[in-house]
Amino acid sequence: MTNIGVLALQGDVAEHEAMLAASGANPSLVKRADQLHGLDGIIIPGGESTTIGKLLRRFDLLEPLQERVRAGFPIFGTCAGMILLADHVEDAATDQPTIGGMNITVQRNAFGSQRESFETDLRVPSVGDQPLHAVFIRAPLITQVGDDVTVLATLADGRAVAAQQDNLLVASFHPELTDDARLHRYFVDMVSERS
Ligand code: GLN
Repeated sequence: MTNIGVLALQGDVAEHEAMLAASGANPSLVKRADQLHGLDGIIIPGGESTTIGKLLRRFDLLEPLQERVRAGFPIFGTCAGMILLADHVEDAATDQPTIGGMNITVQRNAFGSQRESFETDLRVPSVGDQPLHAVFIRAPLITQVGDDVTVLATLADGRAVAAQQDNLLVASFHPELTDDARLHRYFVDMVSERS
């Protein structure tokens, strides 16, 4: 069975765990670096990227995750997790620690204060024909992608909100907050192919 961790420093940890279990993976929580051993992949949940970044540093998880990204370890970053995986962050806080590794630029809090949260249906052909209901909470946007990045979903106006680059999968929204597990299943399949 595929062993997938959920970074459990902040955010929707239990919801991601449930989605992974529903997708046929064996989930476990990661709060310390030794809990990365034996994992085939990990999810970095939404929350606050500045806080998660500081906690990663405090719990000595930042470098182990950076090393794993470079070694091809599969990581799924949602919302704040996407910010942490981006090589370039617009409107980052001063000295905001990030993992990096994905050749994208993301803009934090891209929808501004008047529209901090919204829900919409997205077309995500990689997970099937049925639209994917997506919950955006103070969400970031992907504003630039490198040649090696595939955009998996856009808003109606064409702005990118989900993407993949080799072992890295990111989404601006919170797939763990609906009962549609297709994006988690996509990640589990991605991990299975590599483990
Ligand atoms: N705005 C948050 C940040 O910058 C992300 C929001 C979220 O993860 N729901 O980290």
